[in-house]
Amino acid sequence: MPTYDPNNIFAKILRGELPCHKVYEDDKAFAFLDIMPRAPGHTLVLPKAPARNILDIAPDDLAHVIKVAQKIAQAGIRAFGADGVTVQQFNEGAGGQVVFHLHVHVIPRKEGLPLKPPASFKEEPDMLKEHAAKLAAALSG
Ligand code: AMP
Repeated sequence: MPTYDPNNIFAKILRGELPCHKVYEDDKAFAFLDIMPRAPGHTLVLPKAPARNILDIAPDDLAHVIKVAQKIAQAGIRAFGADGVTVQQFNEGAGGQVVFHLHVHVIPRKEGLPLKPPASFKEEPDMLKEHAAKLAAALSG
């Protein structure tokens, strides 16, 4: 398997070298909005540890990411009045992974509303800002 590349785009976001719409941060995890959301509130949850995907992450770091994904899922229900949540996580190109720093997609869902196709729609920054604020408020409320 290839090794972790510290110059991947999410590593740059974690180091503050590239912008993002932050939703949550603690000592081991970071969450921000996907810029091409498949539904409003589509969030990516990352470990701060430099893991490529589920194949190389330390089990404790993975467990923490999943705990944070659960919090984001619950906040997504509250913030967006969602009826459900889709959680996705891809590993290596063959597994659908495009960015090689482990991330879990947490996508609030409304009954009867299909997901937009992947990478089909780039959301406006103002809307992302509003959605990140709504999620952050739901997380702290
Ligand atoms: P995947 O590796 O298949 O889980 O896909 C990577 C995801 O990252 C896609 O949903 C992209 O829309 C998203 N993405 C790519 N670049 C950025 C970025 N700079 N900020 C937020 N999300 C991004």
